[in-house]
Amino acid sequence: MEAIILLGGPGAGKGTLAESLKQKTDYLHVSTGDMLRAALKSGSPVGLEAKSYMEAGELVPDSVILRIIEERIAQEPAGARFMFDGFPRTLEQAEGLEAILEKHSGTITHVFKLDVPRETLLQRLTGRRVCKACGAVYHVINMPPQKEGVCDVDGGELYQRADDSEETILNRLEVYEKQTAPLIDHYQQRGLIRDIDADQDAEKTTTLVLDVFNG
Ligand code: AMP
Repeated sequence: MEAIILLGGPGAGKGTLAESLKQKTDYLHVSTGDMLRAALKSGSPVGLEAKSYMEAGELVPDSVILRIIEERIAQEPAGARFMFDGFPRTLEQAEGLEAILEKHSGTITHVFKLDVPRETLLQRLTGRRVCKACGAVYHVINMPPQKEGVCDVDGGELYQRADDSEETILNRLEVYEKQTAPLIDHYQQRGLIRDIDADQDAEKTTTLVLDVFNG
């Protein structure tokens, strides 16, 4: 089993990059944010536990996250390749992931660190809109749908994530700096960090990442 990690602040483009890598590689996209939103929507116990944290832009407890990751990994065959998006987000999660990987004889091969200035993150998050039906992501200025408020893919209604309100965004940026940014050092020490300039359009960012894969 092999894994890569997409690391970057909220709005860095992890989800968008993951979607395009999914089409060009055999990596399975595992987004803890998407998993938690699905759990919330279905009203499962995990969703109920995660709700208040997500609404406040705080991190869901590590034990909950590690449990859903462990279950997700167990669903796939031994040779599967995972692309983690939005996970790990704390040192405890990184250590938990290492323990899970050890059990599955898995390794992390790359940690792609998406570099985007804070002003860009803010601008991206405040303008982000998501399709209620399929989860496709748009931006009111950078990537508008053909018809305002309507998904190009399936005609679904576009909405603004509850945690994309300005106040919650500021908290999420702070949470990233305090709790997630220390992971950069952790993975730097292991020689895994690949710096990617992600302050550009999604296609160019994808090309940079694919170049790393192709050596
Ligand atoms: P995201 O879609 O990655 O921006 O995640 C949305 C929200 O889900 C975050 O603000 C957290 O509340 C929660 N979340 C997602 N992934 C994690 C994680 N690995 N650890 C803790 N909380 C998470």
